[in-house]
Amino acid sequence: MKATPTPEEIDELYTRLGSEARARGYHLNPDEDFTRDIVQALLTNTKRYGYQACPCRLTDGVRDKDLDIICPCDYRDPDLAEFGSCYCALYVSGEIARGEREAEPIPERRGHPSTGSGQAGDTGKDLEYPVWRCPVCGYLCAREHPPEKCSICGADKDRFKQFL
Ligand code: SF4
Repeated sequence: MKATPTPEEIDELYTRLGSEARARGYHLNPDEDFTRDIVQALLTNTKRYGYQACPCRLTDGVRDKDLDIICPCDYRDPDLAEFGSCYCALYVSGEIARGEREAEPIPERRGHPSTGSGQAGDTGKDLEYPVWRCPVCGYLCAREHPPEKCSICGADKDRFKQFL
């Protein structure tokens, strides 16, 4: 892969993210120029680090340390619910997408004690299988190991955390 994203690569990812968002009930920011800039930055980070690190945050450069900020990050849905937009404003609520509400500044949720990581508690010891939680969309599944990809949002297996 070349170091700088090509217009074709930007087109491809922009189109794919848009269709995935529509299929999953999300909305890309309707400001196409802005959104394409974010898409380009996501591609640049993918080429640089090997994963789609959030372009609006400091990246460690080690996947295991950046799992929570691989786009879509763990904080997208809570930020959408509370502020109508993710931290980078790549994803926005339906209201903002339709122009019924203005986007507002988003405080950084990462590292905040109230964020909640969905780590395993001490309940559920009698379950036949552990329960895994997708930190991006909250999907729960009971099985020996987490799925390769979240069936709701497509997050990779290593993003899952044991919930019970
Ligand atoms: S969902 Fe938004 S805030 Fe989260 S990583 Fe993607 S662009 Fe950044």
